[in-house]
Amino acid sequence: MRTVHVIGAGFAGLTVSLRLAQKGFQVELYETGNRVGGLLGTDQTEHGIAERAANALIRTEKAEQLFQELGITPSLPLDSSKKRFLFRGIPKAWPLSFMETVVTIARVVPQILLRGKKGFKPQAGETLQTWGERHLGKIPTRFILGPAMQGIYGNEITNLSASLILGPIFSQTKKGKYKGLLTGPGGMQDLVNHLEQRLHELGVKIHLNAQIKLEDLQGPVVVATSAKAAAELTRVRYPSIAQVLSRIQMSSLMSVTLFFAKAQDKFKGFGCLIPRGFDLKALGVLMNSYIFKDRDKTYNETWILGGSKEEQLLDLSDTELLKLIAEERFRILGQKDSLLDYRINRWKKALPYYNLQLEESLADLQEVELPKDLHLHGNYLSGIGLSKILERSDLIAEKIASQHE
Ligand SMILES: Cc1cc2nc3c(=O)[nH]c(=O)nc-3n(C[C@H](O)[C@H](O)[C@H](O)COP(=O)(O)OP(=O)(O)OC[C@H]3O[C@@H](n4cnc5c(N)ncnc54)[C@H](O)[C@@H]3O)c2cc1C
Repeated sequence: MRTVHVIGAGFAGLTVSLRLAQKGFQVELYETGNRVGGLLGTDQTEHGIAERAANALIRTEKAEQLFQELGITPSLPLDSSKKRFLFRGIPKAWPLSFMETVVTIARVVPQILLRGKKGFKPQAGETLQTWGERHLGKIPTRFILGPAMQGIYGNEITNLSASLILGPIFSQTKKGKYKGLLTGPGGMQDLVNHLEQRLHELGVKIHLNAQIKLEDLQGPVVVATSAKAAAELTRVRYPSIAQVLSRIQMSSLMSVTLFFAKAQDKFKGFGCLIPRGFDLKALGVLMNSYIFKDRDKTYNETWILGGSKEEQLLDLSDTELLKLIAEERFRILGQKDSLLDYRINRWKKALPYYNLQLEESLADLQEVELPKDLHLHGNYLSGIGLSKILERSDLIAEKIASQHE
């Protein structure tokens, strides 16, 4: 049986190992930490669960299939989560005035009629901000596009790459209808546990606390770590690849879950995104108790802060951070409630910065000829979200299988 080595047991490493094992490969999975899951994980508290990073996957066909084959009954969003807020002085379901909406429609509709979807295709080297202002105008870019993208990529749109983020929409051949999200009933740790269990059943050998060197491995290797760790791993054996990878910038993000004595019910919905320019640090808040069922034992919210311009926030003490959030929560939601418990997860330099530098680095990576036995995987390559990572796991496993038939 052919052996494949997978380095990194985050969602990318776990799912590619699953697909490879299902194709009959002997998989050796190496993880430097003492647990699998990487950024994914769920803390149990006496008030309910607190997600460490991601709270759900986009409900694509592949995601649904994964849950089904692992025997997880997915937890789907509640109806209350359909409402989403954008902050403009107060949380609003639609942040534009009547006139601003008319102006935006008058700008967008002719472009659709004249050039169709193609006319919106981003240009290489264009930021999301430039793309937005070109197609939608300044106001919708600031109050809708900006906060929405910053909520996903954890950074302001002034430097985010339009072609990396929006490009895939234009190259998709089959577009499925957006069906919302899904997670495990006990949170994302449910998914991690089921993946780990299935890998054991399939005979995958998981090596925790592993200090592995690429140069010691023979045969196909999947490097499924962050870009930063991938640069370090490839440094000796593939210096030209390492050089490109080391130029990818990483950014920091923090999730702060707060459990309150009283539920706020003034704004019931998925959460609220916060545009820049209001002198607020928070990027957004998720109203967990209104998103998934069984999360309302004690009303809780998750606040997201950080990004490359606000890295220093991750150095605040818990007390300083809680004070900052309490002040901003009062300005945003108008709420002052007593806090019962909290969980803070500081993810330093953990996420790829989807900026123009990443766009350049990925273009350079295409120029460097990757050795046949080296496969790069992770959230810096074809999307930061879990459903995109899952798609790439399938592709990599298929490629390795076709090379070793
Ligand atoms: C606050 C936050 C909220 C998010 N929310 C969402 C969301 O709601 N939905 C969504 O789809 N995505 C979300 N994301 C993004 C998503 O969680 C990540 O993109 C994804 O989990 C990354 O998975 P990965 O396997 O690529 O990387 P990682 O999870 O970083 O895993 C990489 C693994 O490699 C290991 N490793 C590193 N170096 C080595 C080495 N030398 N040898 C062996 N192992 C090594 C690491 O220890 C780690 O376990 C969020 C991220 C954050 C931070």
